Amino acid sequence: MKTNRIVIVQCRLSSTRLPGKALKDLAGKPLLAWVLSSMKKVKADYYYVATDSDSYEQLLPVCRDYGFKCFAGPLDDVLSRFTMLLDTVKAKTVIRATADNPFLFYEAAEESAELFEEKNKGKSTCDYLTYSGLPHGSGVEVFSADSLKKAASETTDPYDHEHVGPALYNHKDRYNCEFIPAPNRYNFPDFRTTIDTYSDYLRAVSIMNYMKAHNYQGPFTTEEIMEACRSNTVKYPVVLVPSVVKGHGTGHLRRCLSAALQGGFFVYIPDDKSLAETDTIVAEYVNEGLSKNQIINSIPDESYLPAIITDTFELTENQLKELSKNRSLISIDEGSRYTEYCDYLLDIIPSYKCERLANKTDSSFITMPQNIRNQSNSEAEKIVERVLICLGGEDPANLTMPAAQAFRKKFPDAKITAIISNADNPYVDYAGGPNIEFIKPIPGLREKLFEYDIVVTHYGLTAFEAVYAGCGVILLPTTKLHRKLAEKYDFAFVGDKKISDSALEAALTSENLYAKKTDDTETGGEKKSLSAFLRLLAAGKRMPCPVCGKLPSQPDLVISRNESRTYRRCASCGMVYMAFTTIEDKKYQKAYFFEDYKKQYGKTYEEDFDSIKAQGMRRAGIIKTLCGTGNTESEKNIFDIGCAYGPFLAAATDSGFNPFGTDISEDAIAYVQKKLKYPAVCSAFPDIDTAEEFGIAQFDVVTMWYVIEHFKDLGSVLRKVSSIVKKGGLFAFSTPSGEGVSAVSDKDHFYQISPTDHYTIWEPSRANEILRLFGFKVERIVSTGHHPERFPSIKKSGAKPGSLKWKLVEAQSHAKRLGDTVEIYCRKI
Ligand SMILES: [Zn+2]
Repeated sequence: MKTNRIVIVQCRLSSTRLPGKALKDLAGKPLLAWVLSSMKKVKADYYYVATDSDSYEQLLPVCRDYGFKCFAGPLDDVLSRFTMLLDTVKAKTVIRATADNPFLFYEAAEESAELFEEKNKGKSTCDYLTYSGLPHGSGVEVFSADSLKKAASETTDPYDHEHVGPALYNHKDRYNCEFIPAPNRYNFPDFRTTIDTYSDYLRAVSIMNYMKAHNYQGPFTTEEIMEACRSNTVKYPVVLVPSVVKGHGTGHLRRCLSAALQGGFFVYIPDDKSLAETDTIVAEYVNEGLSKNQIINSIPDESYLPAIITDTFELTENQLKELSKNRSLISIDEGSRYTEYCDYLLDIIPSYKCERLANKTDSSFITMPQNIRNQSNSEAEKIVERVLICLGGEDPANLTMPAAQAFRKKFPDAKITAIISNADNPYVDYAGGPNIEFIKPIPGLREKLFEYDIVVTHYGLTAFEAVYAGCGVILLPTTKLHRKLAEKYDFAFVGDKKISDSALEAALTSENLYAKKTDDTETGGEKKSLSAFLRLLAAGKRMPCPVCGKLPSQPDLVISRNESRTYRRCASCGMVYMAFTTIEDKKYQKAYFFEDYKKQYGKTYEEDFDSIKAQGMRRAGIIKTLCGTGNTESEKNIFDIGCAYGPFLAAATDSGFNPFGTDISEDAIAYVQKKLKYPAVCSAFPDIDTAEEFGIAQFDVVTMWYVIEHFKDLGSVLRKVSSIVKKGGLFAFSTPSGEGVSAVSDKDHFYQISPTDHYTIWEPSRANEILRLFGFKVERIVSTGHHPERFPSIKKSGAKPGSLKWKLVEAQSHAKRLGDTVEIYCRKI
């Protein structure tokens, strides 16, 4: 049936930002092919690609494959290209798409064409129509062929001629142009699917990776496209940076390629790589299903790259600085001295702990072999019939041959296999010698290790895999560090470069020959998915100092690292803050009080009301003393931020103050207003105008009890507090102490158990320095939360409450302000 429609896909190969873009490979097809197959879903009589004569020949085969005709016209005067094409066909309605949009909403295109035709059925006319609100790059334009021809003849504006739509919609006095808000099912203006820049192209590759993983073949439906756009694969792209430097072994590259294959990540391989095996190894993984599009040779800008994950042995300070610029930097097994640049450190191969702490150390991310040796023979009678010498695909210290000869001498009847990387290796001459076989690197070596009685290797992945496969393992350390590692992790090793008989004998009789499995008791030896964990890390957020609000040019000193967070000390203000987290933001709703509170304290907040109020009475007493009026002739206004169900408001009232409260929880505020009948407003501080809400611009006292640590924008919070406290008035707050016994005796444990929504950790000794920035002077610090049982001496001695020891420790806790919480009272000056 005739539709009187023509679909025109505008395309040229001379894109400046991405030359040859339309024919660039995207998931195994030229980009243009995805556009054409999508537009073919829109009903029409004619399907054309409109291009210029220079691009024509190259585009023709793709057009043919997808049922499009190719039309060549002027390069820059696209408007004339369109009108010339329209002169050759009989069509009323033109549906225009561009070749840089592989994720077009064809359903929306069809609907908007129908809507356009509907509008032109009556007397009124519509010359141009498009849906607005689609992702940038998923929409089309519909217009009347006759109107376009007319408009073209009327305009001489070069802009109108270079583009097409403006000839109509920039002349609304003459043409009726409609931008219709798209129905909800197509309305996603915050997403971008077009391919204009290299970053856009990488996003498209991520979308395609998602499609492939879910077996969506294309042309893709709107639902499939949006599902992909919202997925973590697309939202949190990852670029893995493996070492491809000669001398570092092939393990880093393999680990990254394997994670990329599973997780849909990009792998950065620079053109100046020196690891000879790189291309062969990459080809191996491409064979297994890794998309070639996932291998990139430049690190793109941050517009589509929140996370870089390095696996490079040892980076220089400059490299770390460059890679960490404006995006998260996560490093695996990083040996650099400059790891302050890293937001997160993951150690998989247990490293020799020099001075740095990793966020997580977990050898269960090593992919362990499935094939395990039969362990039935008794340890003493292990027979050596097959020996594998595998020095990491490379052999920088030339140890392969000496090792092979030493083993041949020791076990004349054993078969010795040595892996060497290239066929030109001089050792090849020795091939075929008595019982020594030289072979090229074996793909999937991990699953073949179990065939060998003894594996001779360097400290690294193969060593751990061989231990798991149940082989005898002998390391050949080439550096002091590797020797230390071999000792620390109980490997048998030959430290002698000549591989002397005595050194070999010592290794063979070492009780560590059949090394104990590494300490993965914590996970029960369960294998973990590295790619899934890296995806989680990639979704993590780097955060600036909440007080200063901006990221420093040099990384702040790391205070502590743990599995989900990294804490640093701000070089500018001294605050300890959460600088990186993989935990999603918490929403303070009703559930916070009813469930979280109960989880933490074993009773509901309301049940706890009276004991919290009692604390409030004590605090109100201190405030009263500091107010120092001496008489109560005028009641003072006190504003409690984060007042919850109002226990402090009740205490303040009983102490003679006028209470005002605010909290983010609607439920709590409703309780305060209705049950307690105090003035209170539900708001997210600092977004409150107290003058408007309470008729009070400045208070005598502002308080925050266990609230201050929850603000990510503490700087603006403190500025606001400062503005609503009268000169000479007080600001008082309580918070966990970064100098209490728990923090002092086991710092990393303290940060580990610090709630994930505490963004700042206050150290009483530095509080004045920070508060001074906001016009406050600390008047009094009260150390609270004294717990003798948390002191190492009580833990060790097991002293009971009431004992002399206990009492002494308790006194010491008070005297030295070692309480785990602190109250800080300061005056506006
Ligand atoms: Zn700061």
